[in-house]
Amino acid sequence: MGSAVGLCSSPRAWGCDWNIARLLCFAAISWVLMTQMEVGAWTYHYGDKSDYSWEVARNFCRSFYTDLVAIQNQREIAYLNSVLPHHRTYYWIGIRKINNVWTWVGTSKALTKEAENWASREPNNKGRNQDCVEMYIKRDNDAGRWNDERCQKKKRALCYQASCQSSSCSQRGDCVETIGNYTCDCYPGFYGLECEHVVRCKNLDPGPDCSHPLGEYSYNSTCKFLCQEGFELQGLDTLQCLESGNWTAEAPECAAVKCPALAAPGRGGLNCTHWHGDFTYNSSCAFSCETGFVRNGSETLECTALGQWTGLPPLCEAIKCPMLDSLSRGQLNCSHWHGDFMYNSTCSFSCETGFVRIGSETLECTALGQWTGSPPLCEALKCPVLATPGRGQLNCTNWHGDFTYNSTCAFSCETGFVRNGSETLECTALGQWTGHPPHCEAVKCPVLDSPDRGQLNCTHRHGDFTYNSTCAFSCETGFVRNGSETLECTALGQWTGHPPRCEAVKCPVLDSPGRGQLKCTHWHGDFTYNSTCAFSCETGFVRNGSEMLECTALGQWSDHPPLCEAVMCPGLAAPGRGRLNCTHWYGDFAYNSTCAFSCETGFVRNGSETVECTALGQWTGSPPLCEVMRCPKLRGLEPILMNCSHPLGSFSYGSVCRFRCTQGYFLNGTSRVRCQPDAHWSDKMPTCQEEAAPYFKQVLLYMGGGAVALVALLLTGMLIALLIKRLSDKEEEKTLLNPTSDLGVTGVFTNATFDSNL
Ligand code: CA
Repeated sequence: MGSAVGLCSSPRAWGCDWNIARLLCFAAISWVLMTQMEVGAWTYHYGDKSDYSWEVARNFCRSFYTDLVAIQNQREIAYLNSVLPHHRTYYWIGIRKINNVWTWVGTSKALTKEAENWASREPNNKGRNQDCVEMYIKRDNDAGRWNDERCQKKKRALCYQASCQSSSCSQRGDCVETIGNYTCDCYPGFYGLECEHVVRCKNLDPGPDCSHPLGEYSYNSTCKFLCQEGFELQGLDTLQCLESGNWTAEAPECAAVKCPALAAPGRGGLNCTHWHGDFTYNSSCAFSCETGFVRNGSETLECTALGQWTGLPPLCEAIKCPMLDSLSRGQLNCSHWHGDFMYNSTCSFSCETGFVRIGSETLECTALGQWTGSPPLCEALKCPVLATPGRGQLNCTNWHGDFTYNSTCAFSCETGFVRNGSETLECTALGQWTGHPPHCEAVKCPVLDSPDRGQLNCTHRHGDFTYNSTCAFSCETGFVRNGSETLECTALGQWTGHPPRCEAVKCPVLDSPGRGQLKCTHWHGDFTYNSTCAFSCETGFVRNGSEMLECTALGQWSDHPPLCEAVMCPGLAAPGRGRLNCTHWYGDFAYNSTCAFSCETGFVRNGSETVECTALGQWTGSPPLCEVMRCPKLRGLEPILMNCSHPLGSFSYGSVCRFRCTQGYFLNGTSRVRCQPDAHWSDKMPTCQEEAAPYFKQVLLYMGGGAVALVALLLTGMLIALLIKRLSDKEEEKTLLNPTSDLGVTGVFTNATFDSNL
């Protein structure tokens, strides 16, 4: 079938596992090639009958030899290249691409970089699927080097065959190929050329339960150890004899079973009795607790044979005090040394803002399970009690009690009163109100003043000029109120009306009198109280009435207004025998009246024709007299006897004189003459002529002229004396003695009498 190239026998001849054999062959060839370069480690074979695809080639090698050649180094390559003949299609070797990795198919190991022996520019995987490897033998180029090829290509199979059999080395070692032979590489625990001896360990004391598969106390013997109840092995319970001839460990001893070491519980003590060692089988431990702590659990524990205590170690638990709750409105801050609210726990209490603690600040849990005191309370801070303001109301909202923290109090005032201050106060966390309580103050009305010339009389119920104040107004004498008598301050701070004024009492308006003037002094307004008005009249007029009027408090003048009346002159009457013709401007015989006088026939005016009434009430002159016209006085001297009648005055108008002559004489001329209105006698006075001696008579008459005058003068003086005497006797009868006329005629006239007031 094939040409023997090397010494390796067919695997099938070994009858051993193919893989192990192959490994052994590889090991052998490696060792041989490395140590015996000149000689092949095993035998090589190749099929010279035909070429095969790679798979078939491998089956061929595995059927008749061991496998396709596995090449490990350059020397083997050089050997093969020198020994094998050239073949056109070259030789398949045991390398194939598996999962895209070049792999030694004999060991399924990847081809290492160091072991690669590719021809130049190979593997090129030309045309793909070049998944198998051939070796160029005796090629011109790259002899002994590899090329990847398609596995379906047909080439010679290059096989090898190992020397070791399955029974080699007593099956207690690895068979290592040598040149045509093998050596044994004994497994541990075996020695000898064929590994026929077993390593021994020292004998153990009797007692252990041992098994000796390879010989007494030999390699792979195992021994088991046991202890009495309550004890346990110190060490391995099973020992095995190792390939080194030593047991896996020293022989164990039995020690008392250990229980877990116990410690004194926190806050407690432990008192143990040990028989076989600390905390071992049969040890018993008693527990105790410190003051303030109480044992929770068994007092005594015993260590059992199972290494367990008869129970759980007790705990020293702090004595419990009643649980404390947080304060209402406060906080609880506890330090727990031994658990919540346990012995020695200290709890301090604090209160929220606005609250104050009443009671102990700190409590401590005593060993008796009681607190050192009662928990405190948090009471709201108190603010001073607020009083309802006068005339107001107080409305408080209390959250934590009257007038305490957070209480809010709202103030309101009655109608007519207004709050002075904050509307709302709040009790702060400092126990103080946020401000001062307000007052209810009466609404203020504007301050009223006394009216001018008046008085103000107010009644203030709640303060000057405030709500409900009433003010009454009065006026001084002579003044009268214009407006309300009383005002009241309303709740709106307004008076019920405007303050009145005191106005001076009015008197009727005065006018200047006719022909007069008015001069007033007004103190309080025209023609009002205390106004004084002085009246004056024009020249020629005189005031009839008070000069000065004053307006009284009653609104009346102190008197009637005067009139300016024309000055009166004395009343005039027509004179005897005369007429009066007056023109009156301002009244009869008053200022400026003019009166003209005229006299009857036979009378003549003696005085001014016209008089005028002056401003002084006097006429510009005396009224004239109407004097009767006088005719020359006649004298009847002897012998003429004359008998005259004088109805209007002696020898005056109307007088008639009759003449006659004494005896012896005769009348020469008219016997009767009458005094005419023109003061002329109606005729010449007659003469008496002696009938005998006319001459004498003539002379007498001539001479007598002067004598007559002298006599007349004497007579007149006698007459005056007589008249005076008569006047003194009769006063009511007045007579005037007038001097004689130019003509020497004297007469007596009755005269009109004028009375004057002035
Ligand atoms: Ca190739």
